[in-house]
Amino acid sequence: MKTLDKGEFPYQNLKSWFEREKRIFPWRDNPSPYAVWVSEVMLQQTRASVVVGYFTRWMAKFPTIESLAAAPVDEVIKMWEGLGYYSRARNLKEGAIHLTKHHNSLLPSDAKALSKVKGLGPYTIGAILSFAFHKKSAAVDGNVLRVISRMFAFEQEIDLPSTQKWIRERVEELLPDTESWVIMEALIELGATLCGKKPACEACPVQDACQGYLLGKAENLPKRKKRLPSIFLKRIVPVIYHRNELLLQKQEGKKVMAGLFEFPYFDEERHLKTFYPGHLQKVGNLKEVEHTFTRYRARLIPTLWEAEEKKEVEGFIWIESEAMQKLPFSSGHRKITQEVLGKHANLTHGKF
Ligand code: SF4
Repeated sequence: MKTLDKGEFPYQNLKSWFEREKRIFPWRDNPSPYAVWVSEVMLQQTRASVVVGYFTRWMAKFPTIESLAAAPVDEVIKMWEGLGYYSRARNLKEGAIHLTKHHNSLLPSDAKALSKVKGLGPYTIGAILSFAFHKKSAAVDGNVLRVISRMFAFEQEIDLPSTQKWIRERVEELLPDTESWVIMEALIELGATLCGKKPACEACPVQDACQGYLLGKAENLPKRKKRLPSIFLKRIVPVIYHRNELLLQKQEGKKVMAGLFEFPYFDEERHLKTFYPGHLQKVGNLKEVEHTFTRYRARLIPTLWEAEEKKEVEGFIWIESEAMQKLPFSSGHRKITQEVLGKHANLTHGKF
């Protein structure tokens, strides 16, 4: 592996390419620190094209850190509904409260103070310092890891902390003293576009400095650990209603789905008999839903049940169907809700 001399790096090529080809996003071009924070958190695990709508709606609903800090947590989670990894939304809300208490509702411009904001890791801190405050700061996300490992033909597994540290050091060395934020964002853009899974080296502005390309190894880099296999889950989901109310649970604590509403669910239908302390009449089957979250692939099998009497069930609440549209649901249960409220609109009148 050859090290890359700063003097050999084609900064001007990369900069011109970026200014010519960069995708237009609402969080680009002189964004506020708050806009960088929100967009970067949304962009973790989610494609930019999907983030655009979420980001625009979020900034309209919570235009300032103060407004986010003051918003009810259910409203915040609702705005995140469908993006997944909901701890990100809860962390944004907690981070906003911290900033309102300690930093006059503003993001600070130093790494130490930023590291005290809930949910901010090295990448997001680097991105805020670089894109919002124009400081020379490395923001190393998955795109940059891929670009740099190819550029240096680095053969160690990309998932290793030692590899990520090594790459971060190379980026810090590589960033120029002037307009470092442009080069930083250009490297991210390069990884998100030309230097994707299948690199388009022929069109690349840094081709001449790329060892992976010159050695014919680009397509085989970066090296990765084998992914853990997916875990398949089968969930029986009884949708239980009485008149115009439905039985729901709100996931609490530190669960993946914390803050989200869901219908009851079981591994097997027989558990329903002991779950509900009253008579249930099966009304019919609903459409099955496939739901993927983290390493899990769940098959949700929903069925509709009418409760003769409204009984209390520990950990569950009865909610009027009209109120359900405003509640945040996990994406699988949201699909079931839509079918229940759409196809069976008469539920609002107490019957199907
Ligand atoms: Fe990526 Fe190819 Fe450009 Fe190298 S030359 S940075 S492998 S697109």
